[in-house]
Amino acid sequence: MDAAELPEREGMDYDVVVVGAGPAGLAAAIRLKQLDENLTVVVVEKGSEVGAHILSGAVIDPIGLDRLFPDWREAPDAPLKTPVTEDRFYLLGPAGGLRLPNGLMPPLMNNHGNYVGSLGNVCRWLAGKAEALGIEIYPGFAAAELLFDGNGAVTGVATGDMGIGRDGKPGPNFARGMELRGKYTLFAEGARGSLSKQLIARFKLDKGREPPKFGLGLKELWQLDPAKHKPGLVQHSFGWPLSSDTGGGSFLYHLEDGQAVVGFVVHLNYSNPYLSPFEEFQRFKTHPLIREQLEGGKRLSYGARAITEGGFQSVPRTVFPGGALIGCAAGFVNVPRIKGSHNAVLSGMLAAEEAAAALAAGRAQDVLEGYEAGWRTGAIGADLWKVRNVKPLWSKFGTYVGIALGGFDMWANTLLKWSPFGTLGHGKPDSDTLKPAKDSRKIAYPKPDGVVSFDRLSSVFLSNTNHEEDQPIHLKVKDMELQKRSEHDIYAGPSNRYCPAGVYEWVEKAEGAGTDEVFVINAQNCVHCKTCDIKDPNRNITWVTPEGGGGPNYPNM
Ligand SMILES: Cc1cc2nc3c(=O)[nH]c(=O)nc-3n(C[C@H](O)[C@H](O)[C@H](O)COP(=O)(O)OP(=O)(O)OC[C@H]3O[C@@H](n4cnc5c(N)ncnc54)[C@H](O)[C@@H]3O)c2cc1C
Ligand code: SF4
Repeated sequence: MDAAELPEREGMDYDVVVVGAGPAGLAAAIRLKQLDENLTVVVVEKGSEVGAHILSGAVIDPIGLDRLFPDWREAPDAPLKTPVTEDRFYLLGPAGGLRLPNGLMPPLMNNHGNYVGSLGNVCRWLAGKAEALGIEIYPGFAAAELLFDGNGAVTGVATGDMGIGRDGKPGPNFARGMELRGKYTLFAEGARGSLSKQLIARFKLDKGREPPKFGLGLKELWQLDPAKHKPGLVQHSFGWPLSSDTGGGSFLYHLEDGQAVVGFVVHLNYSNPYLSPFEEFQRFKTHPLIREQLEGGKRLSYGARAITEGGFQSVPRTVFPGGALIGCAAGFVNVPRIKGSHNAVLSGMLAAEEAAAALAAGRAQDVLEGYEAGWRTGAIGADLWKVRNVKPLWSKFGTYVGIALGGFDMWANTLLKWSPFGTLGHGKPDSDTLKPAKDSRKIAYPKPDGVVSFDRLSSVFLSNTNHEEDQPIHLKVKDMELQKRSEHDIYAGPSNRYCPAGVYEWVEKAEGAGTDEVFVINAQNCVHCKTCDIKDPNRNITWVTPEGGGGPNYPNM
């Protein structure tokens, strides 16, 4: 049965459709109802429940929550309970670390007044508030398709069909997707949103902007030895185990209930195809400063997610007829602060305010220009502007000189409201930075010790990832021959190393009289980090939504 023969989709009409129940989407939905309780608002979420796909640090700047719910701290079930108590910053070498004096850091890096917590739990809490306001939330439904009117304006989204078999044909449990139509549609899909990517291309929203940049963040949740637990401790590092020409760093935050999170971000503009972000993370945990905190504890969860790193100069135009990009779908992360959730909330609220005003004026499906102007001139723009050169300087000059120059630039921006560098560009997109394998050094990673470092499959197990197996593969390789000729033959199969879930393998198979290597995609393991969509050297892999409800089931990540 091809698409034309499928039964008609049913549809529902709303004032505003929101795609994604992260902090941006939920804040937008809530703000709309706060402004006008009669508005009809729906949120679709591809995770099996709200929070299931949320992976963040997180040290959270409460500026957004404070605006959305000024009395959130007084709520008995307040989602953030642990204020930051101590801030440590290290430059690591293989055996030791140099603690940098806090006074060296520009004030914007200070975590005083911020909270350590789980962004997944913040979203679960926001979802409860949203439902109490009458917002419809549909977890387990992926927005798979954009809907347009005759003039080309976005009119909503369609959720994916369920029960399509691996062969692309409807199976016994087939159910047609739904059309969710809105006068405005807000896209809150987070970093590298699959529909947001289509919108950016269709409306040329990236015209005149720097390319988007990303990092891959890997994270584990640990139950610590109680004697080692220091609630509110925030520790960051850069340097070892990455070489100076590879950007990235670590975070280690002590939460409540004896738990801590440890994580590692590798900038995806790395050049060595033999590099494995997963193994760098595992190796990092063997450092004495980290091992001593984890030993005696138990690893509870694992996951990975791309983080946007392009900053101010990479944010595309955020508006188009019928909708807007909010949160990390637009790319509002402050890179040196490794924080984006505050801007996700602020951008959701701002877009909601613009949409509510437009609806009150009887408008629909037009361009919310006030949102595009508002983020630039308001708190989000101010937050991103001061740090706009940190990532480009790091990429250009390497870790040591780059970070020193970045620090100097942040001080200049803070004290003088001026930068000696102007606004630097990022150069190439992350897909274009790999060197051929023949020009690259192989990296021998240590074997996991099973105490603080682990292998990939036992890690993926802890992400509780699950996909219905009998469904079309949601990682679309456009040209398999190109994958072999280039990804394999020239770059030695980097997907096998950059994918944090072991989805991609080149496997030797009998072929005629000899053998050949074929590209195997273990799609059921995918944790939806989106790295393959970003880093494939030929942009030959496209991540599309699998059946709703599939993917990781993160607890308090
Ligand atoms: C490792 C790491 C550490 C970080 N540390 C911090 C930190 O300490 N502090 C901080 O403030 N920020 C941190 N960030 C950044 C922060 O997590 C993001 O800025 C924030 O999550 C962005 O919120 P969002 O709502 O835009 O997107 P997300 O939080 O990514 O939420 C998007 C939601 O949309 C859903 N979705 C996506 N596509 C679809 C679709 N097509 N259909 C239905 N649902 C869909 C997803 O499942 C998800 O639930 C970190 C990020 C990472 C990766
Ligand atoms: S297949 Fe792609 S999106 Fe899925 S986990 Fe691997 S790199 Fe991430």
